[in-house]
Amino acid sequence: MSKLTIRVLGGTREVGRSAILLDTGKTRVLLDYGMKLIPKEHPQFPPLLDEEVDAILLSHAHLDHSGSIPRLYRKGRTPPVYGLDITRDYSEILLYDAIKVAKIKGHSLGYGPEEVRGVLNNFRPIEYGVPFRVGDLEITAYNAGHIPGSAMFYIKYDSSTLLYTGDFNTVESRLMPAADVEEIPKTDFLITESTYAFKEHPPRDKQERLLKHVVLDTIKSGGTAIVAGFAIGRLLEVAMALKAQGFRGRLYLDGMARKSTEITEGYPERVRDYSEMALVTREITFVKNWEMRKKVAKRPSVILTTSGMIEGGPVHYYLKERGEDENSSITLTGYQIEGTEGRRLLEEGRVEIDGEDKWILMRVNQLNFSAHASRSGIMKLISAVKPSGVMVVHGEDSERFANELEEKEGVSAFSPEVDEEVLI
Ligand SMILES: [Zn+2]
Ligand SMILES: [Zn+2]
Repeated sequence: MSKLTIRVLGGTREVGRSAILLDTGKTRVLLDYGMKLIPKEHPQFPPLLDEEVDAILLSHAHLDHSGSIPRLYRKGRTPPVYGLDITRDYSEILLYDAIKVAKIKGHSLGYGPEEVRGVLNNFRPIEYGVPFRVGDLEITAYNAGHIPGSAMFYIKYDSSTLLYTGDFNTVESRLMPAADVEEIPKTDFLITESTYAFKEHPPRDKQERLLKHVVLDTIKSGGTAIVAGFAIGRLLEVAMALKAQGFRGRLYLDGMARKSTEITEGYPERVRDYSEMALVTREITFVKNWEMRKKVAKRPSVILTTSGMIEGGPVHYYLKERGEDENSSITLTGYQIEGTEGRRLLEEGRVEIDGEDKWILMRVNQLNFSAHASRSGIMKLISAVKPSGVMVVHGEDSERFANELEEKEGVSAFSPEVDEEVLI
């Protein structure tokens, strides 16, 4: 039987710059090719490849999976990118935004708008459950439940099979159906993310009710309720949660989440319940310009905005305007990486805005609206596909999780080092 070489280029024992190269000797395929954004430092990339690749399989649009792809589009190379239709549209806004942010911060990405256009022009839309071929590999995408368009790749080579999860979630949310864990056939070798391998998420319903309370309290006392979150998926999830919990007021949406919501509205089949989503988006007002932003910030209102870790975006403006108002509040809807302004806000009560350190006196809350599988979700996937070997990636502590899988669960597992090659 012929062998398949797996070379891990990044995104192992860390979160960020996910990139794995599959090589059959005839066919070379990349599973994601992302970048790692590090607060106040230059972003990190997986190594540039000297040899050509036949294709890139893009699990979803987030930059830690897509942000280096344009770097492959130099020297006249144009490898096709396979992903779901909506992934192309999300990637378009995220990659152009990455260029914009890099310019502001004085970072070099190794690509510009021309390379991004190359990626978009060579995008090949695929569909869940419909196999396609790249060289001697047969590939089928399954819904990963993480964000609209997120995919797990089930790959057949000779008589063996491999599953790459990308980022996944086994629990349904307001916006997304759960990952198609039950539909995936038995798999010989599993490459799984492990972001929350040591965590169980708190019950979502309780998080939603807490959010509603914060928002109602804030408005009652005449303040502005700011909710910060990721542009893709997260803020729409938050809006649907507030409405599902009976919040009746108007919701303002600002930042890149506006564009991403418009994109999501164009793909009814990529969300759990389109009509439920449409009822909510009808009640959202987009903050379209500065004039409107200034008006909205001045009166009691609920504003959903980016960035999720307070690293930039309109949330800085709102904090500048309302940060000292004790009747107002800011709610963070996810984990805050060390070194981010969001983390400083939680730990020190301060945020740097336009080069100025500012004390934030408004109420600060943190809730968990994670779109990643918890430990029990990862275990659910492992028991469903019954792999004989597991490679653990995409987690700060992926090595420890691999050891625990071996010792406690009797599953053969390991977490490779960057640039390690594995033969299966
Ligand atoms: Zn992701
Ligand atoms: Zn990721």
